[in-house]
Amino acid sequence: MKTLRNYIGGEWVTPAAADYRDLTNPATGEMLGRVPLSGAREVNEAVAAAQAAFLKWREVPPVARARYLFKLKYLMDQHFDEIAATVTRENGKTLDEARGSVRRGIENVEHACGIPTLMMGKTLEDVAAGIDCEYVRQPLGVFAAVTPFNFPAMVPCWFWPYAIATGNTFILKPSEQVPFSPTLIVELAHEAGIPAGVLNVVHGAEDAVNALLAHPGIAGISFVGSSPVAKLVYLEAAKHGKRVQALGGAKNHVIVMPDADMDRAVANISESLFGCAGQRCLAGSVVVAAGKAYEPLRERLLATAKSLRLGYGLEPDVNMGPVVSARHKERVLSYVEAGRKDGAALLLDGRSTKVAKHPRGHFVGPTVFDGVQPDMTIGKEEIFGPVASVTHVGNLDEGIEMVQRSGFANATSIFTQSGKAAREFRYRVGVSMIGVNIGVAAPMAFFPFGGTKGSFFGDLKAHGQDSVEFYTDKKVVISRW
Ligand code: NAD
Repeated sequence: MKTLRNYIGGEWVTPAAADYRDLTNPATGEMLGRVPLSGAREVNEAVAAAQAAFLKWREVPPVARARYLFKLKYLMDQHFDEIAATVTRENGKTLDEARGSVRRGIENVEHACGIPTLMMGKTLEDVAAGIDCEYVRQPLGVFAAVTPFNFPAMVPCWFWPYAIATGNTFILKPSEQVPFSPTLIVELAHEAGIPAGVLNVVHGAEDAVNALLAHPGIAGISFVGSSPVAKLVYLEAAKHGKRVQALGGAKNHVIVMPDADMDRAVANISESLFGCAGQRCLAGSVVVAAGKAYEPLRERLLATAKSLRLGYGLEPDVNMGPVVSARHKERVLSYVEAGRKDGAALLLDGRSTKVAKHPRGHFVGPTVFDGVQPDMTIGKEEIFGPVASVTHVGNLDEGIEMVQRSGFANATSIFTQSGKAAREFRYRVGVSMIGVNIGVAAPMAFFPFGGTKGSFFGDLKAHGQDSVEFYTDKKVVISRW
């Protein structure tokens, strides 16, 4: 059992007066350790350390800053299995899912290694006779990120590698529910020799976030979590004059056309609905079957859902782990009850599913509703659990209309063999991440990641070139000699 400490100015420090939260393995109930719940005092210390490190760090040539990240990438590869197992232990997802997410995290470190090229400015000679104009990108100071429980290793890597590669210094506030894997990666960053104060970790919850939002020494905040908190972070950070990118929740629709390759579609959609126990911002949630796709799709999805094996993700042959906590399980079950009350047909009920070997695990079996309407609670709110809603529309236009009605706009997919239908879909839907015959439309590190409407508050998204934009100022110099 481990008691975590903050990482400030290159040292692991015990917070002065913090409360602690006990953490358990969501599959087994085994005690994992304790995380401190820091407050304004610890945030102030971290900001002071990050500010002190900034002036020197920004002078380190980008190519030399990148070398620390090359080293970190090497260490993350070396410790790959340990990081993935830590993700499974604290979050509950299966080891395969954890491995996939750690790989995605490493890809961000790899991409940030290209910072000498990514960070270049531009020049134009003779903007007027004898006058030249250029812009250079400069870091802004101290940035912070606040991250969610569902991808403990990956999501923090969407932010801090880019922020420090561009010459800023950083404070990470990981989810207090899953702080072990991000801490392990920061231990590796320490081993890679990243100088003291460049990267800091403050563990905690709401109090720590509020202190970060209000601190005048922080230039900007990157946030990922639920929509209500994303909106609050966006408004508060803006009120305090900060840059902010706040990624929120989702309700992703998957349209299936009658001409779809049904075998492939069902395999992909099932993975999208039930992978990571539905706790993915890109998870399919509402399956919209058009015309004759409806019956075969519903029957096959149901059969696939029934075949999934629940269990502890570190054990072999497990397809689906638990949800993250008892509290989250209650929330998911309350949505199942709401669906039943609203009159949707409960085709498969996972509420009382048990895993004999792990009676203390927070398991929810795959659950399938049919006849879900957009105005039902389960048709419009994010459930974030292994609960699929199936609905039937007449054609593509009606499917698109349903997507457009949603208050969220993170991701959506279409399954079809018609290029025309796919083109129509991608052209018309106002959703930012689109899959065509892909169940989980996850942009890789070199593309922007984030939604619109209620799923995203801000303008510059996570990773890709947007990251470089977010973490730098473009300074324009106009010269005449
Ligand atoms: P959450 O909003 O409860 O917590 C996220 C972070 O905010 C945590 O670090 C937490 O400590 C902090 N926080 C929580 N409540 C707060 C408050 N009132 N004031 C200040 N800070 C607060 O989210 P979660 O349950 O950890 O994560 C799941 C959510 O994240 C889902 O809604 C999911 O869709 C979303 N998510 C979105 C993306 C995306 O790319 N859009 C990616 C992953 C997860």
